Amino acid sequence: MSQLLAGKTALVLGVANKWSIAYAIAAAFVREGASLVLTYQGERQRQTVEEFGVELKAAKVLNCDVTKQEELDSLVNELKSVTPTLDAAVHSIAFANKEDLSRPFLETSRDGYLLAQEVSAYSLVAVARSVAPLMPNGGSVTTLTYLGSTRVVQNYNVMGVAKAALEASVRYLASELGPLKIRVNAISAGPIKTTSARGVRDFSKVLDGVAALAPLRRNTDPAEVADTAVFLASDLGRGVTGNVVFVDSGFQIVGVGISG
Ligand code: NAP
Repeated sequence: MSQLLAGKTALVLGVANKWSIAYAIAAAFVREGASLVLTYQGERQRQTVEEFGVELKAAKVLNCDVTKQEELDSLVNELKSVTPTLDAAVHSIAFANKEDLSRPFLETSRDGYLLAQEVSAYSLVAVARSVAPLMPNGGSVTTLTYLGSTRVVQNYNVMGVAKAALEASVRYLASELGPLKIRVNAISAGPIKTTSARGVRDFSKVLDGVAALAPLRRNTDPAEVADTAVFLASDLGRGVTGNVVFVDSGFQIVGVGISG
């Protein structure tokens, strides 16, 4: 075992269940020797995530709805009682109303647009601002994005716009936090069957299309995304910031003329 994260403490936000990308990342972080803090959103998820915390030997499992500044503030206070410093944070959070992931983009409501932006993009800014003071020796902040930020993916709609804002936020945060030796990056994962992804209408067709056309001719394994998250959080990633790293079987390079 390489133990790439030995001696490091990592905060992972966004574990909802075993299929969550954040769960794969948390498990890979533990495998590499990190001490882990997990969060859950509200009482509904508390027991589930606490059980994952036991399984993954997390140092702490804390409540945090990223849309509530007071919960981010108390997360930071509780983190301080667990660890003097933080080395890595993973933001694996997104949300949009289901109807905005099925009807035409033109029909997106004002509230639905703002909700997707707040939970899926602004929350990275809020999380980065909260954890940066806990990284006096530098650190790494990683978020999860998707190709729908720059290409039209049917039904991804408002979430694609939120991911565009998220990726731009990564660049601005990387620029401002770089002098503090805090790196900020996004991993653009290929489609993976998770609870959030199932909310996108006809998601299984996207999976089939990627498996047929991606250079590697298969879909993305969450463990591949997790290993890239390990790289970015580790010292191996020390020169990488402001990036969108694709872990998608190469699908992002595909143009026309490719057939399964
Ligand atoms: P997931 O398991 O459903 O994870 C989404 C997480 O976001 C859940 O833990 C959810 O918590 C959390 N969340 C939503 N609103 C929140 C809030 N206000 N405060 C705190 N947490 C909140 O789905 P996933 O696919 O792993 O998604 C993780 C990230 O990967 C997302 O950013 C997603 O866009 C991105 N991504 C996914 C794919 C894919 O195909 N699956 C591809 C590329 C990128 P609750 O369950 O408690 O609401």
